[in-house]
Amino acid sequence: MYNCPQNRQHVFCFTRVAALLAFLIVCSIDILVSAQSLPVSEMQQERKRMVETQFKGLGRTPIENAAVLQAMLTVPRHLFVPSSHRRLSYEDTPLPIGFGQTISQPYIVALMTQALGVEPGMKVLEIGTGSGYQAAVLAQITPHVYTVEIIEELYRSASKRLQDLGYSSVVVRQGDGYFGLSEGAPYDRIIVTCAALHIPAPLFDQLKPGGKMIIPVGGGFETQRLLLVSKDQQGGRTSQTLELVRFVPLLRGTH
Ligand code: SAH
Repeated sequence: MYNCPQNRQHVFCFTRVAALLAFLIVCSIDILVSAQSLPVSEMQQERKRMVETQFKGLGRTPIENAAVLQAMLTVPRHLFVPSSHRRLSYEDTPLPIGFGQTISQPYIVALMTQALGVEPGMKVLEIGTGSGYQAAVLAQITPHVYTVEIIEELYRSASKRLQDLGYSSVVVRQGDGYFGLSEGAPYDRIIVTCAALHIPAPLFDQLKPGGKMIIPVGGGFETQRLLLVSKDQQGGRTSQTLELVRFVPLLRGTH
């Protein structure tokens, strides 16, 4: 494979092979390091760029809530995205997280959090933990965040990630979120990050009077309506369509 003259140049030849090997090792370490740990300041710049370019124009509802903007500037989204897609972490796009699921695009996370009107001290339930990113954004605003994931592997990896990144106040549970989470009920706010065919009655039941829920309603992989559902003091329901969106479907049954 490596063409060396037979006798007198063994040492020279060995040196060249060693140099080549060293070069290859340095290159692979470099590739690994740059994929795993992008410089912190560079990532902060990326988040600033994301907020400036994606949240204020493009003919969309602007993101203006100071707490939401601060949360989006703070949470390291690149650490919630698989390393294969890390360079796209702050782009205006959803990304795959395995098991046929996706982390929503940053704008949708910000829009849903803003529309829900989450305030410090509120108790919030999320259905569809996925990577844990939306839960981390919520946890920047209030320490009382509960999140439910149906796929065991995603539940395990998101629990560990949230713990490792210091979001240890977030309560992560595995289960079918159609039934909500009685452990923390009733909630001030509920956010559903997968599309349901209808508003699940158990979720509405777990809202406090005066509470709000945001949920995409419609068939999986079709255009769905993003609904803001309010519960009045008498337990009555009103809902309003905010946007047309595309979310992965809310799954049912055992996983
Ligand atoms: N909020 C996530 C992305 C959500 S993708 C994030 O920030 O990364 C939708 C998630 O909902 C997927 O992880 C999917 O497994 C989960 N899901 C689907 N049906 C569910 C159900 N019935 N209960 C709980 N989670 C569900």
